[in-house]
Amino acid sequence: MKYDVTVIGSGPGGYVAAIRCAQLGLKTAIIEKNATLGGTCLNVGCIPSKALLDSSEHYHNAHKTFKEHGIQLDNLKVDMNQMIDRKAKVVEENVKGIDFLMKKNKIDVLAGYGSFINANTIQVTATDGSTSEVQTDKTIIATGSVPNIPEAFNFDGKRIISSTEALEIREVPKRMIVVGGGVIGMELGSVFGRLGTEIEVVEYMERIIPTMDKDCSKQLQRSLKGLGFKFHLKHLVKSVKNTGKSVVVEVQKRDSDEVFEIKADYCLVSIGRKAFTDKLGLEQIGVTTDERGRIDVDAHLQTNVPGVFAIGDVVKGAMLAHKAEEEGVFVAEFIAGQKPHINYDLIPGVVYTWPEVAAVGHTEEALKKAGIPYKAGKFPFKALGRARASMDTDGMVKVLAHKETDEILGVHMVGARTADMIAEAVAVMEFRGSAEDVARICHAHPTYTEAFKEAALDATGKRALHM
Ligand code: FAD
Ligand code: NAD
Repeated sequence: MKYDVTVIGSGPGGYVAAIRCAQLGLKTAIIEKNATLGGTCLNVGCIPSKALLDSSEHYHNAHKTFKEHGIQLDNLKVDMNQMIDRKAKVVEENVKGIDFLMKKNKIDVLAGYGSFINANTIQVTATDGSTSEVQTDKTIIATGSVPNIPEAFNFDGKRIISSTEALEIREVPKRMIVVGGGVIGMELGSVFGRLGTEIEVVEYMERIIPTMDKDCSKQLQRSLKGLGFKFHLKHLVKSVKNTGKSVVVEVQKRDSDEVFEIKADYCLVSIGRKAFTDKLGLEQIGVTTDERGRIDVDAHLQTNVPGVFAIGDVVKGAMLAHKAEEEGVFVAEFIAGQKPHINYDLIPGVVYTWPEVAAVGHTEEALKKAGIPYKAGKFPFKALGRARASMDTDGMVKVLAHKETDEILGVHMVGARTADMIAEAVAVMEFRGSAEDVARICHAHPTYTEAFKEAALDATGKRALHM
């Protein structure tokens, strides 16, 4: 078998790269070690977590807000088996969709574990141990990431779990400890918190989602407190023990010797993910990695070995599906001789809690640190007619624009439907639009998007109309 391009890994980076290569006329193969295509994102990441977030949100609303809307329900119950089965069906439909796309684009899917023999030969080892070899002109490594769980956490996949196991829990736990107040912790904590589980978060930093805007962190924490979350910020985990029917976590205050124990049914460890390159044979061809095990790449996402590229979670940058996809398209087009470009400053980040958090561009902290003069405009959701109509008044939009030029440098949103609203900010910023531009664009009424316009009006000289 001889290919122009062979992709290793079929997550959103790998399968998108393969499709774009095929579209550009390159004979393409994709190697996947798992039984289904789609990688972390489709199987145990974005898609199943959003399926459960939606199901749990429906239950939460039925339980907490329907009455106020004038809808009466009796005997409301959670059927966890049905909820997990539906999630599995959603995953199945999505991964089948990737099978279809591979066939449609005439991409050869090679089932097995890919490893380099040399820069142009890849061995594929099937689950039964049989092997075959692929000859390839170019290779795109898209092997993704796995949960980062240090040994001290005594991970056992039963009570001490990662996101992968959390997506399979077929009961409503009474209590769950979430170690790490990042994206996974807040999203999966929300799933169970909405169903009635008591959630206790242990976060090392002084705030949750610490890489995002401070005001967004604060608002999300307030909203999650309202859902019953308990937070131990500036705390670290000393030990985690599975005692059979429960888990005991020893927690220490970060800047003191104070130690206490928390007991729960599960301990979800969500303290980040690490690049996955196990048994890939990188050493066979001399591809280098950085101190965090991520494959080193240049500005064209090419490794130090010519013809071997790497994209997505296995290289530096945000561990996000849409970033992996952009890189997949970029490399395919570069291989085909085009001159693609990715604007890494404008990759949006979204946390799918309720309220949702969404951001693009610089934070205030980053602008201050870089000495860039800026002005900020804000608009609260509680001043928005649409938000009041649907009882979703938690949140705000913040627009950061350059003090002199008025160019929008960052947009930070927390509130209902901001995951979708952020796309407008990305588009405006791609065209290097100003706060004045957004302020003069007509936004439909009543919509949540009016909060973006109002925040832009506020940034351009305190001209917000409804505040
Ligand atoms: P992956 O999706 O990890 O795919 C890598 C693939 O390579 C896997 O299928 C693996 O089996 C295969 N592979 C590895 N080594 C080999 C080998 N040697 N041979 C053959 N195959 C191999 N991101 C978002 O943007 N939005 C979200 O809402 C979101 N939610 C998430 C929720 C959870 C719970 C998790 C865990 C992640 C979430 N992410 C989200 C992150 C997102 O899933 C990743 O950023 C994305 O999947 C990375 O894509 P990738 O193609 O680089 O790698
Ligand atoms: P994360 O980096 O988002 O959050 C990890 C959190 O754990 C941080 O707040 C960090 O300060 C804290 N932490 C680290 N070590 C700790 C320790 N020992 N004790 C206590 N706290 C500690 O990582 P994650 O939530 O595991 O998610 C992994 C990746 O998956 C992220 O990079 C994210 O981009 C991606 N993801 C994205 C989405 C999305 O886009 N909606 C959803 C889920 C996951």
